[in-house]
Amino acid sequence: MIDLHCHSSMSDGTDSPEQLIKKASEKGVRVIALTDHDTLDGLDKVEEMAAASSIKFIRGCEISTKSDYGSLHILGLWIPKKCDSLQDYLREMRKRRDNRNLGMLKKLEKLGINIDYDELLNISQGSIGRPHFAQLLIEKGYVESIQEAFSEYLGAEGKAYLPKDTPKPEIAINILSKDGAMVFIAHPLLSKKVPLQWLSEKVQYFKGYGLNGLEAWHSSHNEEETALLTELAGKTGLAVSGGSDYHGKKKPGINLGYVGENREIPYSIYENLLEYRKAKGF
Ligand code: AMP
Ligand code: ZN
Ligand code: FE
Ligand code: FE
Repeated sequence: MIDLHCHSSMSDGTDSPEQLIKKASEKGVRVIALTDHDTLDGLDKVEEMAAASSIKFIRGCEISTKSDYGSLHILGLWIPKKCDSLQDYLREMRKRRDNRNLGMLKKLEKLGINIDYDELLNISQGSIGRPHFAQLLIEKGYVESIQEAFSEYLGAEGKAYLPKDTPKPEIAINILSKDGAMVFIAHPLLSKKVPLQWLSEKVQYFKGYGLNGLEAWHSSHNEEETALLTELAGKTGLAVSGGSDYHGKKKPGINLGYVGENREIPYSIYENLLEYRKAKGF
């Protein structure tokens, strides 16, 4: 099996780069992509660890953007080591993330909940996100679960929520594409509100900016949705990717290499991607 969408402790996963490769190796995951949010900082370490094992490694990242149906995530895979525009862009995104985090801390403070920015820094190693807030809310006894943290405070309807200041998808797609990465829409049907017709039109439009594929295999997609997305990719000349969106203990239900209880992400996805890359001159 393979897994082309995973998070480490460099963003909001809980496994260190070392633990991630160890787990992949134990489980028999043959190809892995690290796709942390807004940061490339874990890539060198995981690449080094993978090189010392038999696991193939793909450099990746996940970028949040905003579209008609809320947040739309863009995945870059096979990101070249030299990617100056992307690095500049990610730096700007992290700055905006910081501003938002400080704003959410202020809102929590007004609700009588005191979290120090340093406490967030202490439990993260790179990109800070709402899951880190959730962890502290639990540790401090304000809520009992991640779910409660999101429904009460951090989710779109939560009392301390602030939207992320993110750009349009075509901007992220364009930057990744120009820097030489392969570009995918991550978990296109994670939000069940997204109509397939809308997605299909957007996909055509995004192709003009460098979109290469759809993440048809994902833990939030059932078999039917994976089939629908695979069909859409076929019709529009796009590639298909697959990843679990593993976050370690932050998302306990998700298993490395799987998108459902008995649904391993097949190695053929990787082989097809290699074919696509060859055909398109990557
Ligand atoms: P951020 O990038 O700070 O907006 O945080 C996004 C992260 O929060 C993603 O990893 C999401 O999966 C996670 N997240 C969003 N909503 C929820 C929720 N209701 N329960 C658990 N995690 C969530
Ligand atoms: Zn995440
Ligand atoms: Fe995502
Ligand atoms: Fe993700």
